[in-house]
Amino acid sequence: MAESGVKIGLEIHVQLTALKSKLFCSCPTDYRGKPPNTNICPVCLGLPGVLPVVNRKAIEYAIMVALALNCKLSNKVVFVRKHYFYPDLPKNYQISQYDGIGSTPLCRDGYLQIRVNGKNKVVRIRRINIEEDPGRLTYPTGDIATSRYSLVDYNRSGIALLEIVTEPDIHTPQEARAFLTKLVSILEHLGITDISLEGAFRVDANISIGGGGRVEVKNIGSIKDVERALSYEILRQRSIVAKGGVVKRETRHWDSSKRITVSLRVKETEEDYRYFPDPDLPPITISDELVKQVMERMPELPDHRIKRFMKQYGLDEYRATVLVMEKWLADLFESVAKLYSNYKRIADLLITDFMRWVNEFRLTPRDVKATPQVLAKLLRLLDQGVISIKIVKEILPEIISKGVDPEDYIKKKRLTRIADEEYLRNIVREIIHKNRKAALDALTNPRAINYLIGMVMKQTRGRADPSITAKLVREELARLKEEK
Ligand code: ZN
Ligand code: MN
Repeated sequence: MAESGVKIGLEIHVQLTALKSKLFCSCPTDYRGKPPNTNICPVCLGLPGVLPVVNRKAIEYAIMVALALNCKLSNKVVFVRKHYFYPDLPKNYQISQYDGIGSTPLCRDGYLQIRVNGKNKVVRIRRINIEEDPGRLTYPTGDIATSRYSLVDYNRSGIALLEIVTEPDIHTPQEARAFLTKLVSILEHLGITDISLEGAFRVDANISIGGGGRVEVKNIGSIKDVERALSYEILRQRSIVAKGGVVKRETRHWDSSKRITVSLRVKETEEDYRYFPDPDLPPITISDELVKQVMERMPELPDHRIKRFMKQYGLDEYRATVLVMEKWLADLFESVAKLYSNYKRIADLLITDFMRWVNEFRLTPRDVKATPQVLAKLLRLLDQGVISIKIVKEILPEIISKGVDPEDYIKKKRLTRIADEEYLRNIVREIIHKNRKAALDALTNPRAINYLIGMVMKQTRGRADPSITAKLVREELARLKEEK
């Protein structure tokens, strides 16, 4: 296949949103929506004379991820200073971790097995670091490439991040999506992050083709956008090569609204970050005892949950996998399954029409109003023949976006049935007038009456009362006969 020669490596930044406080100070983590520069203290502002103190919970969460991704843990956590000068970084260094200068990252040499097109594939994990998030720059008169100036907000500064780096084992945008989908499912099952929060999940993608320069696409905010950015880069780099050009090594920015990558800077050499161990932060020992404790608290992970879904609910591998790859969907499935026992029917509803509407409305799991009770009720009404599958499909978007109760909805439908004779008579007259030939035919052929009734139903979108309509059509035809 043409994708051979494409090498993709991913660097994923994930905020540990389940933490209550930042990585090195006690500022809260719920900075979103707060006025700029109000969620700060001397530590996360990097003022002189302050001392950072590690959030131990962050270390435990990171160990969980290391174990889930089959990594080799270091026996101590060493923090280093990564120096660079940029307005989002008040100290002019980021507290991070490093593989070198006698220092090690939290863990190394892991892997994640994914499934693409029915085939298993292993993506190696190079390393995982714990580091602090920088502040956030905003671009009031455009975007990073066009704004005349930028503003800086340090509310995010010091939020705990995991940096997960893969080897360049990925060869297609589709593989990248499969890898990230599974990775996110693992992180969510561990209960350490909610990637639907703005900025909680950012990916840098490295991509090179056939030995050309390595291009790094920075700050991609969703799995879908990673796939799009990679597809775009493959096309862009191929067309350069096709014209006899050489792909330069550079850093590019993903413009998610235009869906293109834009050059930010050309890289000549590796940046020199002048790493050195942070003298303010003594190394933390990762004891066997701590690892054992974390292991005992590990929740069920996706691979295990898929197998359990197949066994416990009799689902096939496909349905089980689709559900489990979206943790909240798998949780919803299990809640409905407690109330309604046709498990395959629940799975089918959730992975087809339900998800289609969730995507259509662009809802995050938090915005979905459907409760397990209402979904179970909907399926029961279907089983009892009270509603048809057509009505299920009609009610579903109302349930998802507004939490409508299906019984109320049906009642309301009955209430809105049109029984007003005068109103209906006018429609009947109009239809007889417009369909004179069919009306004359109906005078001698009783079957043609149904055609006219059908026209009334169509015009009222099925809301006209059928027996009143039939009565009125007969009455109006009788009048037509007299006139004749
Ligand atoms: Zn702080
Ligand atoms: Mn980083």
